[in-house]
Amino acid sequence: MKPTRRSFLTAGAAAGTLGFPMIAKAQSPIIWKMTSAYPKGSPFYMDGPGSATDLARRIDAMSKGRLKIQVYGAGELIPALEGFDAVRAGTVEMNHANSYFWTGKTFAAQYFTAVPFGLNFQGINGWFYDGDGIKLWHEVYAPFGMVAFPCGNTGVQMTGWFKKEIKSVSDFKGLKMRIPGLAGKVYAALGVDVKLLPGGEIFPALERGVIDAAEFVGPFQDRRLGLHKAAKNYYTTGWHEPATVSELLINKAAWDKLPKELQAIVENAAAACNVISEGWCQKTNAEAMEDLVKNHKVMARPLPDDVIKALRTQTAKVLDEAIAKDPVTKKVHDSYMAYKAKFDAWSKYSETPYHNKIQA
Ligand code: CA
Repeated sequence: MKPTRRSFLTAGAAAGTLGFPMIAKAQSPIIWKMTSAYPKGSPFYMDGPGSATDLARRIDAMSKGRLKIQVYGAGELIPALEGFDAVRAGTVEMNHANSYFWTGKTFAAQYFTAVPFGLNFQGINGWFYDGDGIKLWHEVYAPFGMVAFPCGNTGVQMTGWFKKEIKSVSDFKGLKMRIPGLAGKVYAALGVDVKLLPGGEIFPALERGVIDAAEFVGPFQDRRLGLHKAAKNYYTTGWHEPATVSELLINKAAWDKLPKELQAIVENAAAACNVISEGWCQKTNAEAMEDLVKNHKVMARPLPDDVIKALRTQTAKVLDEAIAKDPVTKKVHDSYMAYKAKFDAWSKYSETPYHNKIQA
């Protein structure tokens, strides 16, 4: 039978979908690389709910495979702390780390990770999503051709592990402590001999007495390093990192090329991981702290009030020096502190009495 035009078209369509499945697949996936400052397998950062690999999985699922993120741990593709340069150069499209690693490039980056005596988890998210936080983050990174979103949070960290009890500020004189970042500057001004060591080197240094004290993250991560075996004084509620934010750093040229719906998926997957990772930290830290106190003879307590007071005064001085030097930092600082003033005033009616009076 002579084929009609209609039957020819039908046969052709059938050949397209059945005979040549490659033709039916409308688009091949967009494949991006994401590096991390943390080694492969690191809990919270690389593995588990809200981690880098979970973020990639969520983006894949939400985009139905249209955007695939290949995740690389520290050292797999680039060294741990070269994510900023790699994303800037476009060698990789994304990096998963903390913005305070980049304070050498722009000091303002500190405010998007943690400010000593700054906003807690609720407060920092208010500033990010409802205040100017994310907007300013993008503004700070615009000269570097990058954008960023919060994609994880450890919640409040712990002050750290000390071989000897801290009774007053004078106990800081000559104390050798592993403490990175802005908090290190504050401790240094109070006489601490600040040491910068990567995570893996903290335990042997503390155990051998190369250092007298160390800060890392919180009960779960600290126990994983074995820090409780090297020191027994665990000073709690971290004044230095009240809610440490993980950063999803993205090359702006790659971002601008991404279809709007995929941008929305990345942004929403990052926001999901921001909340989910913090929930995971609450659970794992609660379990680990109970274990440390009950089974490992750890003395967990806050620093004495006058020590906190001295740290607070010194932090204000360090921040004042930073904003005097750099107008970009001043702009971010002013926005952050204005938000914090409102948040703190509201907290006096909301969260603080709830913690102290209602819940207690
Ligand atoms: Ca820390």
